[in-house]
Amino acid sequence: MADIERLSTWVKYRNGLCSDCMASCCAMPVEVKLPDLVRMGLVDEFELEEPIKGIAKRLEKQRIIQHFNFKHGKFTLTQRTNGDCLFLDQETRLCTIYDKRPNTCRRHPEVGPRPGYCAYTSKAHVLRRMK
Ligand code: SF4
Repeated sequence: MADIERLSTWVKYRNGLCSDCMASCCAMPVEVKLPDLVRMGLVDEFELEEPIKGIAKRLEKQRIIQHFNFKHGKFTLTQRTNGDCLFLDQETRLCTIYDKRPNTCRRHPEVGPRPGYCAYTSKAHVLRRMK
């Protein structure tokens, strides 16, 4: 089983791998940009005329983001206490905003901590361990 913290344990990505994965990639910090937030419906087009810091402040207060990097204009989405992304369904382990998901998620694992590799964790394996 891959350990999300240890890149050497990640497996080479291949088609179909996601279908029985615990969505371990959705437990990594996700950095997004303003256009992502607009597509996700979290920032209104009209708000784009406001200073970006004000937008970040609002999103932080609403606990949608947990960090804002002003220099790079990147927002980090909030993670739940178990590390999961706020938008990951806790039962199905599927993204609740899949069609509107951020670019970072679309490009994974092509772009990421270890390009071409992912922290694949089989659902069946996790369920067996829980018994
Ligand atoms: S936005 Fe969706 S695909 Fe991206 S990390 Fe969150 S749950 Fe996963």
